[in-house]
Amino acid sequence: MSTSKSYSKFGEKFNRYSGITQLMDDLNDGLRTPGALMLGGGNPASIPQMMDYFSKVSQEMLASGELVSAMANYDGPQGKDTFVKGLAKLLKDTYSWDISEKNISLTNGSQSAFFYLFNLLAGKQQDGSHKKILLPLAPEYIGYCDSGIDDDIFVSYKPEIELLEDRQFKYHVDFSELEVDDSVAAICASRPTNPTGNLLTDEEIEKLDELARKHNIPLIIDNAYGTPFPNIVFEDAKPFYNDNTILCMSLSKLGLPGLRCGIVIANEEITQALTNINGIIGLAPGSIGPAIAQHMIESNDLLRLSNDVIKPFYQGKSQHAVELLQQAIDEPRFRIHKPEGAMFLWLWFDELPITTMELYKRLKARGVLIVPGEYFFFGQDDDWDHAHQCLRMNYVQSDEDMQRGIAIIAEEVKKAYSQA
Ligand code: PLP
Repeated sequence: MSTSKSYSKFGEKFNRYSGITQLMDDLNDGLRTPGALMLGGGNPASIPQMMDYFSKVSQEMLASGELVSAMANYDGPQGKDTFVKGLAKLLKDTYSWDISEKNISLTNGSQSAFFYLFNLLAGKQQDGSHKKILLPLAPEYIGYCDSGIDDDIFVSYKPEIELLEDRQFKYHVDFSELEVDDSVAAICASRPTNPTGNLLTDEEIEKLDELARKHNIPLIIDNAYGTPFPNIVFEDAKPFYNDNTILCMSLSKLGLPGLRCGIVIANEEITQALTNINGIIGLAPGSIGPAIAQHMIESNDLLRLSNDVIKPFYQGKSQHAVELLQQAIDEPRFRIHKPEGAMFLWLWFDELPITTMELYKRLKARGVLIVPGEYFFFGQDDDWDHAHQCLRMNYVQSDEDMQRGIAIIAEEVKKAYSQA
């Protein structure tokens, strides 16, 4: 007779097969399945110019001994000093932000930074109360969803939907609905947003900043796709930081997800807290990502390549994918969220007779991987039809794969509507 293992409360929660784990599994399985059309995961594009660049830089750093030195030594728990200093200077020079090396800490990927930050601020408090992270606009990044050591650490709000020309739409924060009280530990939003490609406007960010300051809580901005790097942003938007902001960045979408380097820019108190957590959980963050990024800063390549190579690559791909979708799907109830950044398109099939979870299964059976919309609406109790009518697809695959994948999506959507 088999006995089921009894884990701790933490063990039970983090041992669950979460949406993010399923997504990473699909990504991994798909990569090994010949012919699979991988429109699901968040792997950045393999941009030939960037791949050549990383290969050249690695060879230079191998020859100079920098790479082996990074491999053979622990950094301090805050992360590699030279990079933290170099990045502080770069951001200060570029944006006149009032920051120094005391405002930057590194983590093993920004995913870990969110785990640390959310659990630092939200969940069960020392006085026994329970606090939550307020997501002002859901759909929001699936990777936050299961990151609380305690359950129920998010509260999120539905957006206002603005209908645009050419079967597009855009979400806006519905400020009339947001309720900030003592149970809110921080406000958090990804900008540009995964999954929608929405870019919160400057005005929205300023209002969120005001709201956060008024309630003496931080505003966490997830800048994984934002400016100044990797700069996968197609609209004008002011980069935002002040001493009440926690700005999270990453090297992943630059094309280096395997290096697992996250960057947190915050006031000294938060930076010290993350440094202490790093020490306990991982001794020190990995050294190779910061060493390569510092090399890129010193040779003035980090912002140059973000502007001149990465941004135009994604912008071109996104426009092309929108055209392909508009051509392939003539359904008037189909709309695309205006692509303003990040590397996904967010498709809305209004009045779709099946859920996108069901659509995901039908597409997976035909070798096309997308992510059903349901995952991105965590932190709200009521079931919203809209949450079952949307899906996320990345647009970074080859033109041929995009065309094949979109043709199959078009067929399955047509079939689903015709069943009504
Ligand atoms: N934030 C957003 C919005 C993301 O899309 C991702 C990854 O896809 C992350 C954070 C985490 O990225 P990483 O841990 O690779 O830095």
